[in-house]
Amino acid sequence: MAMSRSENMSRIRGRDTKPELVVRKMLRRLGFKGYRLHRKELPGKPDIVFIGRKKVIFVHGCFWHAHTCEVGARKPVTNQAYWVPKIQRNKDRDVAHLEQLQDEGWAVLTVWECEIKDEVALMKRLAMFLDETISEFVEC
Ligand SMILES: [Zn+2]
Repeated sequence: MAMSRSENMSRIRGRDTKPELVVRKMLRRLGFKGYRLHRKELPGKPDIVFIGRKKVIFVHGCFWHAHTCEVGARKPVTNQAYWVPKIQRNKDRDVAHLEQLQDEGWAVLTVWECEIKDEVALMKRLAMFLDETISEFVEC
């Protein structure tokens, strides 16, 4: 039976760990609802947008956005002349989008793929980002 690459990947990992879906699940567990997805009118088309709170969340893949982690430091195996500048452009664009959003009064949180693994720490960051009254975080 044919399997798509993503199905195959999620089977290898044992569950669906697509980072954006994981973050959205965490938000629901924390009780943060009413967010919009991929708003085209905002710089960088943020993955998750809380319009009322004026906050956006980007969920970035470490490789494609050149995170300062092990995965982000990896170099493409093939066709480096193409991929290295492309990834650098992604990174430059991310910085520009962040600045534009902040200039427009948006608070921005970037969640990296590699941060998904530490569920408690990430849920704490999400809660504290979205609700400034939260200083203590107890997982329920
Ligand atoms: Zn990373």
